[in-house]
Amino acid sequence: MGEQVRNAGRPGIAFCAISAVDQALWDLQARLHGLSLVDLLGAAHDDVPIYGSGGFCSYSLERLQEQLGGWASQGIPRVKMKVGRDPDEDPARLDAAREAIGSDVELFVDANGAFARKQALAWAEQYRLVWGVSWFEEPVSSADLEGLRLLRDQGPPGLEIAAGEYAYVPADFRNLVGSVDCLQADVTRCGGITGLLSASGLANAHGLDVSAHCAPAISAHAFCAVERRRHLEYFHDHIRIEGMLFDGVVQPDGGVLRPDRSRPGNGLALKAQGNERFLVSSTKR
Ligand SMILES: [Mg+2]
Repeated sequence: MGEQVRNAGRPGIAFCAISAVDQALWDLQARLHGLSLVDLLGAAHDDVPIYGSGGFCSYSLERLQEQLGGWASQGIPRVKMKVGRDPDEDPARLDAAREAIGSDVELFVDANGAFARKQALAWAEQYRLVWGVSWFEEPVSSADLEGLRLLRDQGPPGLEIAAGEYAYVPADFRNLVGSVDCLQADVTRCGGITGLLSASGLANAHGLDVSAHCAPAISAHAFCAVERRRHLEYFHDHIRIEGMLFDGVVQPDGGVLRPDRSRPGNGLALKAQGNERFLVSSTKR
């Protein structure tokens, strides 16, 4: 499939489509064998730790506290919020977040590449010192590999630098090695489960953990097969959509997602009712 999209450009939307087909084929194979997907892949773990992820810059402080505090009260021991869109607003937002989750829950931030290098370095010091932040995702653009490396090497101890959600082809992961403390991977972008297992091998060889980006329902199975799986992004929008479209979505239990191995394949079944408006027909009307 990768060869077929060479001229269209392999990274990007083409690899998202390939990822979907790859995941469907793994799922089909598991169902044909009467196995759960994780058992077909070979489980390195029974579960994947999660972090609650949302905290959008558009939220009011009340909404921010309600969401992050809600995850903390569910027993999820780490949460992530967005930063950097309006940096002047962030200190009040971070204060509110820390107040809502208490001192024992880990606080992660994601700038989506919003900062220039030295700006990011200055914020890194503040995040760690003032709010005890332990994860700074995409402080600069993930295309700025030297910038990421600068942050990784000169940022404060205890604050990990992460990137990888835009890694599509194997070379994208290879390029990030040496620039991040923890590699991220999105199974819906990186060539599906086949691509993820390849990235997992690369991470193993370089002593890096891998964190799952979004799509919790499918990532829970896939990342149980990733030897150095760190955690999984339990992302607000995807939780909502997965629950709306599918039966069999696994719920958090004590801060982990544990695939239901009694169900075949990825355990999901399209809900029969309520989603008619999303049906796509190839029949011309
Ligand atoms: Mg991100």
